[in-house]
Amino acid sequence: MADRDTHVIVGASLAGAKTAEALREEGHDGPIVLIGSEAELPYERPPLSKEHLRGEVPADKARVHPESFYEEHAIDLRLGTTVESIDVHAREVTLAGGERIGWSALALTTGAEPRRLATPGGDLAGIHYLRGVGDSTAIAARLNEGGRVVVIGAGWIGAEVGASARQKGLEVAIVELADVPLERVLGRELGVIYADVHRDQGVELYTGVGVEAFEGGDRVERVRLSDGRTLDCDFVVAGVGVAPRTALAEQAGITVDNGILVSERLETSAPGVFAAGDVANAFHPFFGRQIRVEHWANALNQPAVLAKSMLGKPASYERLPYFFSDQYDVGMEYTGFAAAWDEVVFRGDVDAREFIAFWLSGGRVVAGMNVNVWDVTDPIKALIQSRREVAVGRLRDTDVPLEELAGANTAH
Ligand SMILES: Cc1cc2nc3c(=O)[nH]c(=O)nc-3n(C[C@H](O)[C@H](O)[C@H](O)COP(=O)(O)OP(=O)(O)OC[C@H]3O[C@@H](n4cnc5c(N)ncnc54)[C@H](O)[C@@H]3O)c2cc1C
Repeated sequence: MADRDTHVIVGASLAGAKTAEALREEGHDGPIVLIGSEAELPYERPPLSKEHLRGEVPADKARVHPESFYEEHAIDLRLGTTVESIDVHAREVTLAGGERIGWSALALTTGAEPRRLATPGGDLAGIHYLRGVGDSTAIAARLNEGGRVVVIGAGWIGAEVGASARQKGLEVAIVELADVPLERVLGRELGVIYADVHRDQGVELYTGVGVEAFEGGDRVERVRLSDGRTLDCDFVVAGVGVAPRTALAEQAGITVDNGILVSERLETSAPGVFAAGDVANAFHPFFGRQIRVEHWANALNQPAVLAKSMLGKPASYERLPYFFSDQYDVGMEYTGFAAAWDEVVFRGDVDAREFIAFWLSGGRVVAGMNVNVWDVTDPIKALIQSRREVAVGRLRDTDVPLEELAGANTAH
């Protein structure tokens, strides 16, 4: 049968396109079909809240591969095409329109989509969400008109959009339910620092408060907060988190729990079906638990393991989570995974915003974040992977090289 060695990938963004590339690199010479709902060639999303939003780079700068790559590697790229269902017994996917494609191995790289606010007035014009290049282009056009924006949510998307809007000279108010920005991912200790970063740039920050309603005529003109205050605005951008796109997998009877559950080989509960990127909740051997992250580096790196697994080779995804963010002149990289911690230790100059923060659990570093300090992710990774107990005094002391902390037993 023609589909005996056909490998189908559903979702043509970073994880999907890198999976197609990795399958060829691993020597798969059978058909590869890469199917994506979006009309654009696979692209990377980080610039959409940063350079692209500010009009500094065009969208095609962020393509995962040049257009010629797909033909050169005999990858059957189906853009603007949605997979409607999966049959794991017949080993077929069905496209909108009815076409069926058989597969011997199937990768699900369907990513995540923004959560929508169910708030009264939430369907007024002028309320934007940000996931795709079209969303970013629409918000960028709005930023060019100037005025006043209310950003709902101070997670990464909200914080970066707020920063980009300020950099473009708009008046910016950010509304956040938690007490500090980025609390869900970084915790309070780092959230207060980011609150200052935004306030220093002139952002009005409203924390510990929700949104009661959006008000206006045809378009949003005001945001009413749960404490009764109202904020006038010309438009709104909502960044209130994302949900993994698991509907296809669920309908196919594949196990889903905060994303598609996969092993360290990135294989789902259905033999021959795999998942990677934002949609995958993967068992991580280092942490000994399932982890789902919404990070560019994860979507970039998991596919090398995914492709091996699809081809029946031994493979295990063990890289530590890593992500980055840029807001104004504050750049950061975060390595590791801190679900719970005992304390956060700072090394460097927090006031000057040049420091490394370490999250400690049981005396060991479980995550580290460097802010405007560069070329330190390797020693931070080594320190986490060493699982060594560290003395807090030495961790704080910039005279003690990070490499030494990872390499020698420093507990005393
Ligand atoms: C604005 C923005 C800024 C970001 N900035 C950063 C950053 O600074 N640092 C960082 O680490 N991460 C950042 N991220 C996160 C990063 O972009 C994601 O982790 C990454 O895009 C995940 O890639 P993915 O391929 O798993 O999923 P996605 O990028 O979500 O792609 C999934 C694709 O699958 C397609 N699809 C879904 N269902 C179907 C179907 N049934 N049929 C066909 N196609 C389907 C979708 O249309 C989509 O194209 C940012 C994300 C956004 C939105």
